[in-house]
Amino acid sequence: MGAGVAGLTAARDLSEAGHEVLVLEAAPRVGGKLLRASVGGVTVDVGAEAMLNRRPEGVELARSLGLPLEHPTLAASRIWTRGALRPLPRSLMGVPLDDPGPSGVLSDEGVARFRAAVPRSVEDDVSVGDLVDAVYGPEVTDRLVEPLLGGVYAGQARLLSTRATVPQLVTLAAGGSLPAPASDAPVFAGIAGGMGRLPELLAATLPVRTDATVRELRRTDAGWALTIGPTTATEEVTADAVVLAVPAAPAARLLAPVAPAAAAELGAIEYASMAVVTFAFRESAVPELASTDSSGFLVPPVDGRRIKASTFSFAKWGWVRAAGGGLLLLRTSLGRHREEATLQATDDELAAWSLADLRDAVGPIADPVDTHVQRWGGGLPQYAVGHLDRVARVRAAVAAVPGLAVCGAAYDGVGIPAVIGSAHRAAREIP
Ligand SMILES: Cc1cc2nc3c(=O)[nH]c(=O)nc-3n(C[C@H](O)[C@H](O)[C@H](O)COP(=O)(O)OP(=O)(O)OC[C@H]3O[C@@H](n4cnc5c(N)ncnc54)[C@H](O)[C@@H]3O)c2cc1C
Repeated sequence: MGAGVAGLTAARDLSEAGHEVLVLEAAPRVGGKLLRASVGGVTVDVGAEAMLNRRPEGVELARSLGLPLEHPTLAASRIWTRGALRPLPRSLMGVPLDDPGPSGVLSDEGVARFRAAVPRSVEDDVSVGDLVDAVYGPEVTDRLVEPLLGGVYAGQARLLSTRATVPQLVTLAAGGSLPAPASDAPVFAGIAGGMGRLPELLAATLPVRTDATVRELRRTDAGWALTIGPTTATEEVTADAVVLAVPAAPAARLLAPVAPAAAAELGAIEYASMAVVTFAFRESAVPELASTDSSGFLVPPVDGRRIKASTFSFAKWGWVRAAGGGLLLLRTSLGRHREEATLQATDDELAAWSLADLRDAVGPIADPVDTHVQRWGGGLPQYAVGHLDRVARVRAAVAAVPGLAVCGAAYDGVGIPAVIGSAHRAAREIP
């Protein structure tokens, strides 16, 4: 159940293995966090917009569906801090891989502290922020790691697990060096027309029922009984096996009667909420923006801005620029874990704050011709310290129940390839 990329991938695998499948989706549409919308008449992603290219699962799935892959342009991302847009150093999730020098991101003291790094070996799990604070100094955490982690997890560096989110940092922080990348292939890929095409196309090949919230899961002598639909008109569906590809909170509710130990562990996973605001500008009205050599910027929370990032989609993706015709599309994102208060604002306020921050960052820009606000309540799971052990306990409890598997962003990584990988694994676990 769940017609996000995880549930659809697991269903496709099971269908290809000869099982008769049915995907049950609570929402009126498929795709979960992969979603496209029209902004100024141009259809773009308003959820996830890229995937790692150096892991195979995402690009392989897209290719198998005949979707055209595209890599981001060479435009570089910046960091907006201490009142200016500055180059982002080559880094491991914000930890500079070279001497940071006088870039203005770190203060002189911050640079000196980085140069006096105190290597540390860690046996157990520890938060990314605590490890970076101890080895490289808190400025590196606050100015560089927070904005990078904020972009991927909408999370807080001092709460997120190193082993689950940046495992290579364990080696780097101990004074080791990172292995050279296995290939010089581009790091990221997207899909021309939007990542949202992926679930749309997957779903077109599968039996999917939308508006079909699964409310209850029961073991029966023959397998499973699922109660679905609106509370006023529930319906029962039976199955030999069930794959739960839903976020941790609904998974915990559904598993409580059948795998209580897994339910308790899943119930403890927190989520961050966020919003993505997409603007369409008339190109002729924003000539300076149109000629930018940057793909956007990240904002460290210590700078006290409302937005945490902006992606100049028109500069990052050739297909967005081409699809825009005379319009330039870009987006901002707001909201981090445990800072949900920002999102209690109205859509108009989120858009106005975004525009104000954008103007502060890049200079005067004309008003947009269209604006789209997409809220992602409970959008990203937070991998707290000890997450890998938690997931192992969940999997052990789920494996003890015949004909049951779990997958999705709550387990092995929030990025699309990792989520697809977890779905392949769940499908293999179904006999
Ligand atoms: C704003 C944003 C930007 C992102 N950007 C990127 C990016 O650029 N690159 C990247 O790799 N990753 C990105 N991610 C992360 C990535 O998109 C997600 O981790 C991934 O799409 C999650 O897929 P999923 O199938 O596990 O879950 P979801 O997409 O959450 O799908 C779960 C589905 O289950 C359904 N459901 C819930 N409860 C029930 C129920 N009881 N019964 C039936 N159905 C139910 C939901 O409606 C939903 O459709 C981003 C995430 C967000 C929020």
